[in-house]
Amino acid sequence: MIDISTKEVWFITGSQHLYGPETLEQVAQNSTTIAKALNDSSLIPVNVVFKPTVKSTEEIYETLTAANQAENCIGIITWMHTFSPAKMWIRGLTALQKPMLHLHTQFNRDIPWGTIDMDFMNLNQAAHGDREFGFMVSRLRKNRKVVVGHWNEDSVQKQIGDWTRVAAGWDDWQGAKFARFGDNMRFVAVTDGDKVEAETKFGFSVNTYAVGDLVEFINAVTDEQIDTLVKEYESSYHMADSLLEGGANRSSLVEAARIELGLEKFLVDGGFKGFTDTFEDLHGMRQLPGIAVQRLMEKGFGFAGEGDWKTAALVRAMKVMGSGLEGGNAFMEDYTYHLDPKAPRILGSHMLEVDPVLAADKPSCEVHPLGIGGKEDPVRLVFNGREGDSLVAALMDFGNRFRLLVNKTVGEKVKEALPKLPVARIMWKPLPDFETACMAWILGGGAHHTCYSENVSVEQLEDFAEMAGIESLVIDEDTTIRNFKNTIHSNEAYFRFQ
Ligand code: MN
Repeated sequence: MIDISTKEVWFITGSQHLYGPETLEQVAQNSTTIAKALNDSSLIPVNVVFKPTVKSTEEIYETLTAANQAENCIGIITWMHTFSPAKMWIRGLTALQKPMLHLHTQFNRDIPWGTIDMDFMNLNQAAHGDREFGFMVSRLRKNRKVVVGHWNEDSVQKQIGDWTRVAAGWDDWQGAKFARFGDNMRFVAVTDGDKVEAETKFGFSVNTYAVGDLVEFINAVTDEQIDTLVKEYESSYHMADSLLEGGANRSSLVEAARIELGLEKFLVDGGFKGFTDTFEDLHGMRQLPGIAVQRLMEKGFGFAGEGDWKTAALVRAMKVMGSGLEGGNAFMEDYTYHLDPKAPRILGSHMLEVDPVLAADKPSCEVHPLGIGGKEDPVRLVFNGREGDSLVAALMDFGNRFRLLVNKTVGEKVKEALPKLPVARIMWKPLPDFETACMAWILGGGAHHTCYSENVSVEQLEDFAEMAGIESLVIDEDTTIRNFKNTIHSNEAYFRFQ
């Protein structure tokens, strides 16, 4: 359900009329070449669309406001091939609402030492044209991404591609709808927050829907639909014996399929990109949604448990950013620690809802009693996570601002059998080390709910926070508690004056 390949970023080159038609013709040709190379690059997952060179206040304003209005345009790339006096950019940049990447590049890679003359110097002025432009963007206090280097280098195209993924995540939030079944889990603080401020800041809305309305969808599911889905379960997972045809818990599997079909129809019909529920308010449902939620997350819906709409929205945005890449993005909870001083680890899981996008191997489909919620035994997928570089990210409401907190982590294989733990498990070690990471996370007010990512980078999440105009804090290999505390203190002052 997530496809960013039809999205586009506009490639906009700045210049001025001073140079005459011949130079401007060359500027247009060179810009076309660069835009085409970026568009053709396998490192950039969206379309790069060439726009005619802008040379005046009016042309800049028209192009940038057109970008605002264009449905498929998720951001713009700007580049000053020649000098483009930046007062011309004030009106357009002030009106710009889409994310911007400033590509600080030059058409030619090398200086042609033997032939370089003043015509060449006139044509290739990004070294100072981009500085004039950069001054104005900074003077206007506008957040933007700056990428430096020759446009044909893989490392440059990769940075642009990564940024377009972030812009796609941001674009996905604009006008997005998230459904909340029931309210917040009672008395929980970190999962709560200001939904009006969130819609203002982030562009998505969160509204509550009665569980009874969802139950109507669940009850309307037909036996034929259930048969088809149960067959899909049987072909996709290792099935517990009791869930097979004639097994003691076969009716639980049928009920789980009914819930999945009803829930999906509710979400699709309503145009929702994600949802949240709470086990304290499932009146009329026979089972807690386990496998249903797991599979809907895998399909691309954002989700977090216990009414946690902020994490649900974050999971969705990160799924968009990582779409089409190896690895996954998934709702996660720091559950239990392994405190062996030689190798402390965090075991992540949830009571049911762990996204099979993280599964190292084919999951097994099982049914077990659940101590909370007071419902029939729920069906769930059980699996272990993968090893490899990863991170966890959490979004909190601090009253005067939202904070995105990110911790770099390293996923590890779960080697033990865990025969009595009937949920999916993901294990990782946090960077720089367990003690510093956990101390910083707690000082940073980080939630126990996160999005665990195997393919979104810290830099991308920092860019995402800048697009949203919110605070970001990072815990990684360079973190020391002293510096981390100082950053929190200076951010307190900074955001008080925002
Ligand atoms: Mn939870």
